Amino acid sequence: MGKNQYEVLIIGGGISGAALAYELARYTDIKNIAIVEKYEGIGTLNTKGTSNSQTIHAGDIETNYTLEKALITKRTAKMVEKYCLMHGYQNKIIFSHQKMALGVGSDEVEFLLHRYEEFSELFPYLEVWDKEKLKEIEPKVVFDENGNERIEDIVGIGARGEWTTVDFKKMAESLVENAKKEPNKTVDLFLNSEVVKIKKTRERGYAVYTKKEIFYADFVVVNAGAHSLLLAHKMGYGLDYACLPIAGSFYMTNQKILNGKVYMIQNPKLPFAALHGDPDILANGNTRFGPTALVLPKLERYKSGTYLDFWKTLRFDKDVYEAMKKLFKEKDIRNYIFKNFLFEVPFLNKKLFLKDARKIVPSLKESEFDYAPGFGGVRPQVINKKEQKLMLGEASINTGEGIIFNLTPSPGATSCLGNAERDLKYIVKYLGKNFDEEKFKEELIEAETCTLKEPIERQKKFVNKIRESIHAHDNEYYQNIEIGKPEESFWQNPFSLLKKR
Ligand SMILES: Cc1cc2nc3c(=O)[nH]c(=O)nc-3n(C[C@H](O)[C@H](O)[C@H](O)COP(=O)(O)OP(=O)(O)OC[C@H]3O[C@@H](n4cnc5c(N)ncnc54)[C@H](O)[C@@H]3O)c2cc1C
Repeated sequence: MGKNQYEVLIIGGGISGAALAYELARYTDIKNIAIVEKYEGIGTLNTKGTSNSQTIHAGDIETNYTLEKALITKRTAKMVEKYCLMHGYQNKIIFSHQKMALGVGSDEVEFLLHRYEEFSELFPYLEVWDKEKLKEIEPKVVFDENGNERIEDIVGIGARGEWTTVDFKKMAESLVENAKKEPNKTVDLFLNSEVVKIKKTRERGYAVYTKKEIFYADFVVVNAGAHSLLLAHKMGYGLDYACLPIAGSFYMTNQKILNGKVYMIQNPKLPFAALHGDPDILANGNTRFGPTALVLPKLERYKSGTYLDFWKTLRFDKDVYEAMKKLFKEKDIRNYIFKNFLFEVPFLNKKLFLKDARKIVPSLKESEFDYAPGFGGVRPQVINKKEQKLMLGEASINTGEGIIFNLTPSPGATSCLGNAERDLKYIVKYLGKNFDEEKFKEELIEAETCTLKEPIERQKKFVNKIRESIHAHDNEYYQNIEIGKPEESFWQNPFSLLKKR
């Protein structure tokens, strides 16, 4: 092939682009691959360890995932784990922490116990931890600042000994390095090369323009985060979609407060993931709380410019206005957006955030944490203009004409190898190339999980014991006192409101 001529060209050197380059080089007979990246290195935006929560989101403790979604994320999460273990990256790129979803108060405890029963077949390693067990393994979620036990019921559903945490920037760098090592393959990386235009050529393929040079490729995949949609719009694709960048910030503690990851229960009325506390592998394991969620009028955090790009990808019109109006109409969402705005306001932010974080660590003090400047990234959320609706999942625009545009909000780092597999399968078909699926499956796909009946049965007995003790406690202390003759229609179904939640 000639200079700057490739079979596949990938725009964007984040974890998504790196994963695709690796899979194409290792598992297909495609020989020439290029990655064209705007900045000076691999993974300097959302893939960077300080930009995200470093979590392998498998779906076991993320209470905003349905069982169907967890089935998919578990498969892709395992691919990340298998890749790292295959290359011996334990405790260099991939780390193991204890993890749990924490339920606080009887409603959340009940919810988690039900969720456990629903999810334990898919995740047989999940354990149920009551207050006594939590005192031993994660004491800070139990005691308040005076050393007293918190009064609410709590339960943790979690796991120990699983691979939970990844430095996604390092992983992206390793993916490119390993792709380059594949024999008889050319994998070229072009840094400091911002793609400004893509044009279909007269023959099959595309011309990809940076400010310095032109590349040619038979197939192009745009893995450029929020900028993927901007480049798609420039070519007339994806015009029914707009991008709403939701920035996420973090608060860092000055010590290791939590032993592992602690995730809160998702508020079903909110379209943003619940707050969590995580040990930061780039900060000696000190606990990092977050992320917050703030609409930001720019596509890249901590980089200059991209304000204009924001307006170009938003393409503000009646449909976008309606989608935003729907969001703001919901009281819970409106309050949440306003509160998250205040989380960015110096002095006020810490006091407000403390209130939320104390749900995880009741003893937390203002002196123990700070807003983490320079941490956080942007989740490129998509607005479906036709439906006038904010979408929370990932977006992939496959034009069917040899070019794909991907937008990957959270948990895009976890799903990088799965998304790459999806694109790879299409690319080989389109280019008439071959995919060594057997080798791919052997190396990256975990065999069907066998369900360990015995431990689950044992855990279920334990679950029922916790439930019984909560109910007994309720019966003893929470009997209502009703004096007088209550109004008939109300008292026929007194707790209907509570039950409906
Ligand atoms: C606060 C927060 C917390 C998160 N936590 C998690 C988590 O715990 N686990 C998880 O799995 N995911 C998490 N995510 C999501 C995850 O970080 C992203 O999904 C993932 O990093 C996306 O990778 P990417 O390669 O698609 O995009 P990016 O990492 O954004 O990379 C895109 C690349 O494209 C380049 N680029 C852009 N425009 C151009 C152009 N015109 N020409 C050339 N190059 C270009 C950029 O420079 C960049 O390097 C989180 C995200 C945020 C914001």
